[in-house]
Amino acid sequence: MTSNTTPTIYRVAVPSPLRRLFDYLPPANTPHTLLPGVRVLISFGRRKLVGIIVGTTQQSSVSLSRLKPIDGVLDTEPLVPKKLFDLYKWAANYYQHPIGDALSSALPALLRKGEAIPEQTDTHWQLTEHGKGLPESALSRAPKQQQALNLLQQNDTVSKDEFKRRNLSSTVLRQLEQKGLITAVEVKQNTSCLNLEELLSEQPLTLYPEQQQALDNIELHGFNPYLLHGETGSGKTEVYLQAIEKILRYGKQALILIPEISLTPQTQRRFQVRFNCPIAVLHSGLTDRERTLAWDAARTGRAPIVLGTRSAIFTPLKSPGLLIVDEEHDSSFKQQDGFRYSARDLAVIRAHRESIPLILGSATPSLESLYNCEQGRYTKLMLNCRPGNAVQPRWQPVDIRKANLSSGYSRELIDAITETLAEGNQVLVFLNRRGFSPTLSCHECGWISNCHRCEARLTVHRSPNRLLCHHCEHLEPIPTNCPFCNSEKLQCIGQGTERSEETLEAMFPDTPIIRVDRDTTRRKQAMQAVVDQVNLGEPCILIGTQLLAKGHHFPNVTLVAILDADGGLFSPDFRAPEKMGQLITQVAGRAGRGEKPGTVILQSHHCDHPLIATLTHQDYSAFSKELIRERQLTQLPPYRHMALIRAEAVNSEAAIQFLNFVRQTTERLLPATNKTSYLGPLPAPMEKRSGRFRHQLSVICSERPTLQKMMAALCQELEQSQLAKRVRWSIDVDPQDMT
Ligand code: ADP
Ligand code: ZN
Ligand code: ZN
Repeated sequence: MTSNTTPTIYRVAVPSPLRRLFDYLPPANTPHTLLPGVRVLISFGRRKLVGIIVGTTQQSSVSLSRLKPIDGVLDTEPLVPKKLFDLYKWAANYYQHPIGDALSSALPALLRKGEAIPEQTDTHWQLTEHGKGLPESALSRAPKQQQALNLLQQNDTVSKDEFKRRNLSSTVLRQLEQKGLITAVEVKQNTSCLNLEELLSEQPLTLYPEQQQALDNIELHGFNPYLLHGETGSGKTEVYLQAIEKILRYGKQALILIPEISLTPQTQRRFQVRFNCPIAVLHSGLTDRERTLAWDAARTGRAPIVLGTRSAIFTPLKSPGLLIVDEEHDSSFKQQDGFRYSARDLAVIRAHRESIPLILGSATPSLESLYNCEQGRYTKLMLNCRPGNAVQPRWQPVDIRKANLSSGYSRELIDAITETLAEGNQVLVFLNRRGFSPTLSCHECGWISNCHRCEARLTVHRSPNRLLCHHCEHLEPIPTNCPFCNSEKLQCIGQGTERSEETLEAMFPDTPIIRVDRDTTRRKQAMQAVVDQVNLGEPCILIGTQLLAKGHHFPNVTLVAILDADGGLFSPDFRAPEKMGQLITQVAGRAGRGEKPGTVILQSHHCDHPLIATLTHQDYSAFSKELIRERQLTQLPPYRHMALIRAEAVNSEAAIQFLNFVRQTTERLLPATNKTSYLGPLPAPMEKRSGRFRHQLSVICSERPTLQKMMAALCQELEQSQLAKRVRWSIDVDPQDMT
């Protein structure tokens, strides 16, 4: 075969754990070239898989005679625009994730499995032959039916929504159908033509000067990243809504990322009340089909507004105009397993590549984003006050070192709760630990309820009764006697939300106590029911975990109590103090959002700790400045860049051996200098989990490209290594959770 007859060879991304592409010959009977992004069916070993074309080459490292042809072509054109496809590839590369797996996990599951995009149809109605024969005023004795008939006489088909808009109910339609006059047809949804005159279904609020200034500062053309820093309730969402309105008027789309599924209905409603246009919503609670339909509505531009959680960052847009990441500090934007991307960071890259503005919003911005503002990479927009008369809450630290606590409650706190309830107001108690008690212990011999699979204690749960490991979900019954010495003197040590609920019920028997944690909000509408009850405004006490810290408006809560603020102060994870400060500030932000001023009681053993003092005497901005200074001193992110290599194995030694090998390799590829340092292998903060021993090695480097290059080379070597086969290993670039 001469070189000018060499067939085009396709480079295909195949969902496999290998960090490489695979070569295939063109499919039979497909004369045209397949473009990058097209899905194809391929044989891979003995399996049939869905692959994605990434490019072509004239030369393969495999001889032509051994290459297999592509078995089938699934798409006539690429599924996503080239710029976005390039972003997928960039992300796979940056996060050192196998490209085939990265590309396919960027797509909705249905498409990943090789199915076609389902067609979005609307129910329309049309006249039957019998209906067509009727004179114009045939139904004048039933005016509604008459009206519907006339509408159909003037139009071939009319959508269900259009009838609704004209106040013609489905009952009217059913009556006509029963008379044999009309029949339903499914009509393919047309690409929406947005009616700009009727874009808004409610008047926007009049912005207060700072909001107006923020909005005016947002440059809507070109890549412009902003950090909108305003505390909870300062009106950030209103700024988003008005920026989105401007973008829609240019005929562009807006993509908004939010952290939690529990926030979607509420946010979605707020957008729907404002905008009279389709909103595509993407979150993990959808069926595969619903998700693909929403994805396609974004892709075709049918939905001008796209709202979603983490993975929505991969959603194609027909005409991108604005990206927003709300609560940008939230750790749920970083995927913690598999393809470990950060949706927030990808939003920055995407906005840059699409040349569009990006708004990162938060009451408690991440140190990374604040640092980027300091460096002049982002523009900071501040909202310092709350709209209306709402005032800042007052902080009251309570030193519990020598205090006589009743089940975790200090005298000061009990008095404050009593007073707040007497004034007819509501109380929110924050305790970030679900279950009844974190430890069961024997009073005689000191036995402790450890999980046999994890380096962790089993949490006592009361409803239902059981011991549960919060790390591996291991379950066992609560023993009646000590498994070690058979004593009956078993006691629960420490407080969980269930126990705190019991304590509050005993102390305030006439007040409704509402517990909010993962156990009480498992049912779909449960959180909404809580919000509805609290918004009735009657005195009550909310007790719950961080689920309470997010998004919800409780205007009648005037007292927030943080039972134990010390969790993040002495953790081995360098991000723990930042997260603690964010959580405390977010919880505190629930107080006094209405007209009433709020108080925040913070119980701590370390009220004089500089970080706690800064947080309570000053504010989050001062707190974060201190932490940034600390990071500078220790040369940790954002000052340098980090990658974490994790390994776990049933045999601890195997994980250590593997990481020793990793360290040798990394030091050969990139010797330690003042720019680059290595830490480890060290046991992970939770050394044993689900029966496996976990160790880690961190690499910290001041130059991102250098780190990237080394990590890519490292991955290639690790894939070949025999030691790697004995462990589960993973790479986490810009790790958020060090445990
Ligand atoms: P954030 O997103 O910062 O938490 P929101 O935008 O949700 O704040 O605003 C908090 C409350 O204040 C909402 O009830 C909102 O309707 C109201 N609000 C926001 N901006 C204004 C304004 N300019 N005038 C009056 N009320 C406002
Ligand atoms: Zn015992
Ligand atoms: Zn466990």
